[in-house]
Amino acid sequence: MLNGMNAVVTGSSSGIGRGIAKAFAARGMNVVMHGIENPDEIEADRTGIEAESGTTVLYRRADMTRPGDIRELMQYAADTLGGVDVLVNNAGIQFVAPVDEFPEEKWDAVIAINLSAAFHGTKAVLPAMKSRGFGRVINIASVHGLVASPYKAAYVAAKHGVVGMTKTVALEVAERGITVNAICPGYVWTPLVEKQIPETAHSRGISEQAVIEDVLLHAQATKQFVTIEQVASLSCYLCTEDAASITGTALSVDGGWSAA
Ligand code: NAD
Repeated sequence: MLNGMNAVVTGSSSGIGRGIAKAFAARGMNVVMHGIENPDEIEADRTGIEAESGTTVLYRRADMTRPGDIRELMQYAADTLGGVDVLVNNAGIQFVAPVDEFPEEKWDAVIAINLSAAFHGTKAVLPAMKSRGFGRVINIASVHGLVASPYKAAYVAAKHGVVGMTKTVALEVAERGITVNAICPGYVWTPLVEKQIPETAHSRGISEQAVIEDVLLHAQATKQFVTIEQVASLSCYLCTEDAASITGTALSVDGGWSAA
């Protein structure tokens, strides 16, 4: 149903982004994967997804803290695929600490990778989308784009920023056939979440098991982790013509967290 469309998914060497890249390819899309993990492992993954889907699946490394790298990634996708129909701004990091102990370089990195990179990527792809009169920008924000949790000042600030930017850009391009939306997942079991368990245990002075039960799943009414496939499926839907009137929204996929 999405046959022949071209997509860039940032941060697709792992977790949610990888799931989105796989789902796009399975539905007939050509995809540029991206990420900074081990190049050999990414290459094996890329070839596997390409063989399974029969579409073109490429990989390009780019440091999301460097605007020039981001522009080159988008240019590479446009040149090799012949245009970018869909951009998923997904790359992200987390850091957990009380604000008065929050390392300044961690603040800068979280804002750069989670928020500013989405700006640079979107800015790079929009002119061609406007010329073609079609585009889909999907920003993987978070429930933390809508509500806060302690010890996540940088992440919550970045994700609220992503939701605000989503609304603004959506209004700017609404008459050009381009939609811009944010997806706001609750906790999804990925390396990003696994990594913050010891940090959160340290910040709160509790065990790692208590972090899973009493912190991560506490606010998620379903008491279940959101799955990567659920976020990927919504991303696919947003690329369809049926979703053409959905723009400027923050779509919660959070097991009821933000309803409380
Ligand atoms: P992950 O750690 O599995 O993957 C993160 C991806 O970002 C990787 O591909 C990594 O290479 C890339 N990345 C990290 N730093 C980078 C840098 N400096 N330059 C380039 N790429 C870089 O994480 P995930 O859980 O899949 O998270 C993906 C997105 O979903 C993030 O934006 C995250 O904030 C958001 N999110 C995750 C959850 C969750 O519970 N896992 C919930 C809500 C939102």
